[in-house]
Amino acid sequence: MYFAKAAGTARFVWNWALAEWNRQYEAAEKPTAFKLKKQFNEIRREQFPWTWDVSKNASDQPCLDLGKAFTAFFEGLKSGKRKGRPKFKSKKRSKASFYLAHDQFELGDHRIWIPKLGWVNMAEKLRFKGKVTGARITKTADWWFVSLTVEMVDEMPEKRAAAVGVDVGLNRLATLSTGEGYENQAFLRTALKKLRQANKRLHRRVKGSKNREKARRQLARLHYRMTCLRDDVLHKLSTHLAECYAIVGIEDLNLKGLLKNRKLARSFSDAALGKLLDLLASKVEQRGGQIIKVGRFFPSSKTCHYCGWRWEAMELSDRVFRCQNKSCASFQVAQDRDHNAALCILFEALRLIGLIDQAVDGIGSDDDVNLAADAG
Ligand SMILES: [Zn+2]
Repeated sequence: MYFAKAAGTARFVWNWALAEWNRQYEAAEKPTAFKLKKQFNEIRREQFPWTWDVSKNASDQPCLDLGKAFTAFFEGLKSGKRKGRPKFKSKKRSKASFYLAHDQFELGDHRIWIPKLGWVNMAEKLRFKGKVTGARITKTADWWFVSLTVEMVDEMPEKRAAAVGVDVGLNRLATLSTGEGYENQAFLRTALKKLRQANKRLHRRVKGSKNREKARRQLARLHYRMTCLRDDVLHKLSTHLAECYAIVGIEDLNLKGLLKNRKLARSFSDAALGKLLDLLASKVEQRGGQIIKVGRFFPSSKTCHYCGWRWEAMELSDRVFRCQNKSCASFQVAQDRDHNAALCILFEALRLIGLIDQAVDGIGSDDDVNLAADAG
């Protein structure tokens, strides 16, 4: 298994470089990626000759990656946006992967040529036109994947609408303020059921047993398949948003809440939002657009987008929003919950950047009615 060996080499070098970095750092020797790479190559022939069995990138790149990871870590410390300190990679918990620079492989139709290995078939051929600058080979569940980095020349779309709001939810994957919906939920419901069963099965198995390993792999495959289907939808959505809108308003991800959340459905929608934010960050920026994140505690679902009246008692199961503010133009009109939320997010985003100055707020809520009733 060449891939496993190359990934093992990459992991070994990463761990070696990290240990060496930590040692030098404590000895105040100012370690750098370049110095570590050189140092490793000096002792390599004697101490680790087996690292020559695979592409040289498998042992070069980890040093460079480590350097980047430390730069990000130190910059994070300075700016207050904390990034994790680089960690050692374990055989079990870390994803097996290695990198190939563009001069270390060649692409053919449906296949890739790798040094010291030869041609390997790919399930799919490259869908993008552009200059290929690198490849990372990663093991996910039981499959090996090649992800290629392609430099693309972007064609700027001529006409773009001004702004759009996006609601990512439990019932529909995403809803736009235009009313368009992106679904994958019918599929998600069955998958979630299967996932719960697979999870239970895993926990019934004895730790360290063969059957547990089997159940673990089954669960990983299921997870992976779900992620793929979801990501496919998110890729299409983010490309559409980046191409058609100059301003994209979207909820921010609440990381603290994310860790606390143990409900599967909720955690999947949070993961979808996280993924979508990542995709948008690169695609929207690349096309000169702007993403406006609206705080997670902004009650987008509970607020009437038209007048700002709030339905405090709204439950997750309420799919239709009806404004109870008599002077509102959409008084008692049935509005789709997610569509209303997407519109609220859009207006909040526009308010945040000062394009509209009135907040959709302060008109009252069903709580006022309750208070009035209590008083009376
Ligand atoms: Zn209203």
